[in-house]
Amino acid sequence: EQEVSEYRKSLAIRVSGFDVPRPVKTFEDCGFAPELMRAIAKQGYEKPTTIQCQALPIVLSGRDVIGIAKTGSGKTASFVLPMIVHIMDQPELQKEEGPIGVICAPTRELAHQIFLEAKKFAKAYGIRASAVYGGMSKLDQFKELKAGCEIVVATPGRLIDMLKMKALTMTRATHLVLDEADRMFDLGFEPQIRSIVGQIRPDRQTLLFSATMPRKVEKLAREVLSDPIRVTVGEVG
Ligand code: ADP
Ligand code: MG
Repeated sequence: EQEVSEYRKSLAIRVSGFDVPRPVKTFEDCGFAPELMRAIAKQGYEKPTTIQCQALPIVLSGRDVIGIAKTGSGKTASFVLPMIVHIMDQPELQKEEGPIGVICAPTRELAHQIFLEAKKFAKAYGIRASAVYGGMSKLDQFKELKAGCEIVVATPGRLIDMLKMKALTMTRATHLVLDEADRMFDLGFEPQIRSIVGQIRPDRQTLLFSATMPRKVEKLAREVLSDPIRVTVGEVG
């Protein structure tokens, strides 16, 4: 434990919560399957970034996480890689419909970036990812969602539209990510986020990432996460 706390200190990682898994030093430490290790290597990722070192083992363990780290720190892979592992761990559920992983992001650009990152890792397993955001034809998105996917990356407003159109159901969703939560709040998406959260089973895993933690985001986190572990990297918010 002494060693673990010194390792965290050397990386400027702070954690709070009970039973926090120890940070990893390498992707090998995460126990990823060879296909995923190859996909990671193909991205040129040699070792986990600081937030990944601590967030990956926690997210893989199934716990809820509040992750606070600045832009560019590699938060995307810290939720996308475990999401793929969790999807692969599911027993055959082909007859059920709708995404297993739901990722919300504030803007179409961010949603698209996350979608691209998810696709790179998901491809190795034939896991389907869809992006859902404004500016694209609703009919095309409706058709794409109807065709089925395991991961959906969406802006909150457009996801609500698609849910209203019954383009997808969230009965199969077990993993929810709220990325850049502070920016989603700045853009006025709190009601849509609450609606989406309310449509996903309460025993889901919920991850909330944010560069800062204003009081309103803190309140949402308290309400929608279960026994979260908070991981903070560096000097933030
Ligand atoms: P954040 O969401 O924290 O702003 P991103 O997930 O977008 O950060 O990652 C920032 C950049 O770092 C991206 O270009 C991504 O491909 C790259 N990256 C992520 N993880 C690693 C890693 N382990 N090694 C090298 N580059 C990485
Ligand atoms: Mg990000």
